[in-house]
Amino acid sequence: MAEEPKKLDIDKINKGLLNAFMLDYKSDALAGYLYLKYIYQFGYRLLKVMGRDVKEPDYQPVDEGTAEMIQLFVDQVCERSLSKETSIMHSKIVRPEDAFKLVRQTENMHLVPSERVIPFKLTREILFESPQEIAIGRCMCRGVAAHPCVPPSEQDLCMWIGEPNVSFLVSQNPYFRKVTPTEAVRILEDAHKAGFIHCAYFEKPASDRFNCICNCCTCCCMSTTNWHLFGSNDNPFLAPSGYVPDVSDACNGCGDCAKACFFNAISVEEKTKKAVVDLKKCMGCTLCEDKCPLDAIKMRLEPSIGEPLDVEALKRGAFGRK
Ligand code: SF4
Ligand code: SF4
Ligand code: SF4
Repeated sequence: MAEEPKKLDIDKINKGLLNAFMLDYKSDALAGYLYLKYIYQFGYRLLKVMGRDVKEPDYQPVDEGTAEMIQLFVDQVCERSLSKETSIMHSKIVRPEDAFKLVRQTENMHLVPSERVIPFKLTREILFESPQEIAIGRCMCRGVAAHPCVPPSEQDLCMWIGEPNVSFLVSQNPYFRKVTPTEAVRILEDAHKAGFIHCAYFEKPASDRFNCICNCCTCCCMSTTNWHLFGSNDNPFLAPSGYVPDVSDACNGCGDCAKACFFNAISVEEKTKKAVVDLKKCMGCTLCEDKCPLDAIKMRLEPSIGEPLDVEALKRGAFGRK
């Protein structure tokens, strides 16, 4: 006889979410519940406030009262996002190598990276509980974009890591499913080949810590597109990876890197016909390195713009505590 599928204990899953918030911040769990359960309604309202061309996600209907509560939370996020001191939803670009390290973790751990790594005052802990539990789900930004860059069938690009968020998402949000760490690595590889930028997200409503790796585009994504409001790598919602391109003598000035760079951080100098990097703008996303036909670009560490989110290095280093 076929085994009965295991019944989900929703009560336990909800309590898990509540328990993830520290005693003084238990009230944030309500925002967390609404955010994770109605993430597309949240994204729709957030991107609308930002003036983006969005459409209401009719696949995730909410009643009027819930919609009002989501809007209150969106307003709070927007207000707080104007400064690195108060921001509660932000991300850091990570090279694919560093994204792989995050999805390959097997141990529970607690790291508090310095502000050189995550340059925000609040919400910058990495607290892994059961990191092999990974969920992939529909991208919030593309899922509400009026003209998304990829169709809904290819929008499974948000990768959530660890408990309690994974259990909550897969049980209460029909657009998320569990994947194995091996599948997660394959999804990351494909996303990289498609030219998407990997961002490690830190969000207060997602238990006030690192919660997911997003595979972002430069057209629909709230973080990459908002970068242009500030126009530099010193901004309150998106931190640079800590790497910058080094251009070798092999460069012939073809300009492919400049065309690929969304952040206007690399250009070809007219006199020398060589690519030059603007360190104040470069986000270290590696798109130019991938695009260079002559292999003339190699990424290097640039301490003046911060340190990378390299979880293995953090585990060995001074910032981490288990
Ligand atoms: S941040 Fe990137 S992957 Fe995440 S929801 Fe937005 S576009 Fe999608
Ligand atoms: S793509 Fe490569 S060869 Fe072309 S300008 Fe950029 S660095 Fe030089
Ligand atoms: S210069 Fe290269 S690494 Fe820097 S932001 Fe532009 S594409 Fe990304």
